[in-house]
Amino acid sequence: MGREAVVTKRIPLKEKILSANDRLALENRKLFDEAGVLAMNLMASPGAGKTSLIEHTIRALSENNRLAVIDGDIATSIDADRAEAAGAVAVQINTGGDCHLDANMLRGALAELSLAEIDLLLVENVGNLICPASFQLGTHKTVLIASVPEGSDKPYKYPVMYRGVDALVVNKIDLLPYVDFDMPYFQRGVEILNPGLACFVLSCKTGEGLDAWLDWVRNEIEARRQGSR
Ligand code: MG
Ligand code: ZN
Repeated sequence: MGREAVVTKRIPLKEKILSANDRLALENRKLFDEAGVLAMNLMASPGAGKTSLIEHTIRALSENNRLAVIDGDIATSIDADRAEAAGAVAVQINTGGDCHLDANMLRGALAELSLAEIDLLLVENVGNLICPASFQLGTHKTVLIASVPEGSDKPYKYPVMYRGVDALVVNKIDLLPYVDFDMPYFQRGVEILNPGLACFVLSCKTGEGLDAWLDWVRNEIEARRQGSR
């Protein structure tokens, strides 16, 4: 009897927390849309190359677009410093131990940016393949960055993450000769979970394959501009 009471109290509380996040995510989306910002949420496991991809993207697109980066990390501002050095406006969110960003944390960081002066906002989520997928931030696109050393079984092990994204980057293909990574097996898993997903196989180290990713980002910025006219 007592145990039952605890259980019935827990469920509504969880729903309340989730819906509060979704509501804030919608408010974030409204801020982006009013300011004409395209916002992307970049998710990956630690070390997949989120920050390296962000650096390449800043360097390639800064000439014609105004870029900002919000970096979520458990501690330090190493990644935000790198984004700033590459030429973007950068804001650091230290989550104080939390393993994901939520809409409220993002909202706090947005207050430090002049959104009207930004075309593309890249949000670097905390390195983690599990809970970031469950917290909407209000961004327009979610991008997952996988990397070859992680192994080709990851779509099968983290289906929620792979199912929910709008684009997939497979980084570190320069390491393919040195590790066991079964690309057809990996891609079959992706196709089952997210048919027709935009996929960019590249190396941030050698630059191979980067152009296709950069073209995709450019097209998304342009599509947003057209849409907001
Ligand atoms: Mg990083
Ligand atoms: Zn988490």
